[in-house]
Amino acid sequence: MAGPRRPLDETLRQARSLVEDELVPLEPLLLAERFDELEPALERVRRRVREAGLWAPYLPKDLGGSGLALADFARLSEELGRSPLGHYACHCQAPDVGNLELLMLHGSEAQKERWLRPLARGEIRSCFAMTEPEHAGSNPVHLATTARRDGGDGGDWVIDGHKWFASSADGAAFAVVMATTDPEAPHPYRRASMLLVPTVAPGFRLVRNLPVMGDAGRGWFSHGELRFEECRVPAENLLGPQGGGFALAQERLGPGRIHHTMRWIGLAERALHEMCSRAATRELAPGRPLASRQAVQHWIAESRAEIDAARLLVLEAARKIDREGAPAARVEVSAIKFFVAGVLDRVVDRAIQVHGALGVTDLTVLSYVYRHERAARIYDGPDEVHKSVVARRVLKDYGVEIEI
Ligand SMILES: Cc1cc2nc3c(=O)[nH]c(=O)nc-3n(C[C@H](O)[C@H](O)[C@H](O)COP(=O)(O)OP(=O)(O)OC[C@H]3O[C@@H](n4cnc5c(N)ncnc54)[C@H](O)[C@@H]3O)c2cc1C
Repeated sequence: MAGPRRPLDETLRQARSLVEDELVPLEPLLLAERFDELEPALERVRRRVREAGLWAPYLPKDLGGSGLALADFARLSEELGRSPLGHYACHCQAPDVGNLELLMLHGSEAQKERWLRPLARGEIRSCFAMTEPEHAGSNPVHLATTARRDGGDGGDWVIDGHKWFASSADGAAFAVVMATTDPEAPHPYRRASMLLVPTVAPGFRLVRNLPVMGDAGRGWFSHGELRFEECRVPAENLLGPQGGGFALAQERLGPGRIHHTMRWIGLAERALHEMCSRAATRELAPGRPLASRQAVQHWIAESRAEIDAARLLVLEAARKIDREGAPAARVEVSAIKFFVAGVLDRVVDRAIQVHGALGVTDLTVLSYVYRHERAARIYDGPDEVHKSVVARRVLKDYGVEIEI
């Protein structure tokens, strides 16, 4: 169990040295997809992280964490985000962090014993299976996966469906699966439930890891396509109330978007650092570095301002969630989701441009971030949906009702 709480600044310093001294040196293995070497090396780092008291910082102390408030965890998330390996090393990675939250808030005692505690200790991993290849994920109520009772109330759940982009399904011990359980419920948002499905359950199949921008992926670094073919789990594997799936998903996504956006700010800071280092040392002619060119200076200045603005927005949203709960901050959370994803996109693109040909090789981390974080503008709701949420709120004051 973790000891008394340390000052946040000390934790942030520790996180920075962890990233610089232990994780950045492992990044070439990630860039080359040399998972056989990367995975054991990361496990060794994770053991040291536990001893150093940086393990699962957002979890309460009785689950082995440090019980950081969301706004404090956001600051730490930025430090860890400077490397694509940071969150995994400290056991605060998606999708486990969201599933831990769901289990803490809605798990029964038996579910906590079986899933939450081993997940908190990092003995198992998990995934979240909601999106389906055949339906627009942007409209989450449009689901074809079903879970029906076999033998009336108290009978097993039998799940049929097809999911994809279940991040980290490869090697996960269980999936949190969103399925329609109440097709006749009058309100579409009351028709689905969440179920805990062990990946060894009969009828569960990991079809493949989806190739993403040229990377095959493996283990935690993967996105799985899944089939559920009369997949059977006992009645007690329902997570939260029947028909409560969307309400739970909404709760999961509020803090989750703070985690993602602060991680992106960390990545953007890293990209800006790489951009400035290159601009300062790459010479167009003796004594004339790239940094002497006004175009490059403008990219640096724009990046600095955009990252700082993004951080302020996210910290304000995190404080609102800490104070008033996730539902109260819905508009702020949508605003940061598209705004910060855009900042990351632009900063990484500028950093690549400053690196010239080197920028498109796998010899710097920039290409990995560019390939894998292009998706930031898509996952957890595409930009356009979040912009509509913000516009709906703004236009309400002008008497305009818009549908999303
Ligand atoms: C890297 C990555 C990881 C992911 N991890 C997970 C995971 O772990 N679990 C999981 O269940 N899912 C996961 N997803 C899926 C993700 O949540 C969906 O991709 C997302 O919700 C969008 O759904 P879609 O891909 O079906 O796009 P669609 O819904 O088909 O939308 C396509 C495009 O249409 C536009 N669009 C959509 N709606 C609107 C609108 N209302 N107004 C205007 N334009 C619109 C947007 O530009 C959007 O990008 C992941 C996806 C990625 C890329």
